[in-house]
Amino acid sequence: MTASRAARERRAAAQAGPLATVSVETSSSDALVYKVRCVECEGRPGVRWSTYRSGQDNDFLGAMDRWTIHLSRKHPGAEAECLEFLDQAVARLQERHPRA
Ligand SMILES: [Zn+2]
Repeated sequence: MTASRAARERRAAAQAGPLATVSVETSSSDALVYKVRCVECEGRPGVRWSTYRSGQDNDFLGAMDRWTIHLSRKHPGAEAECLEFLDQAVARLQERHPRA
């Protein structure tokens, strides 16, 4: 049984903390797409900082890892459940992009 989109959205939002806006959408190929936006930061002028993952099994982790790292770098005082997994997030990201 898969959780509904709304339930996934709530769960992800709860982990991401109050600075994140999480949305879960369904792509044209029926894959779930997780988007996490920062309520404070701009990625480009006028555009909210956000992660956008699609087309992979690890969408959730991919988006959450990037968000967790953003949070720890840009909002050191922020509290969120996902920060518990910061070390793992950094390790996973380095695994995916060894030279980054
Ligand atoms: Zn931010």
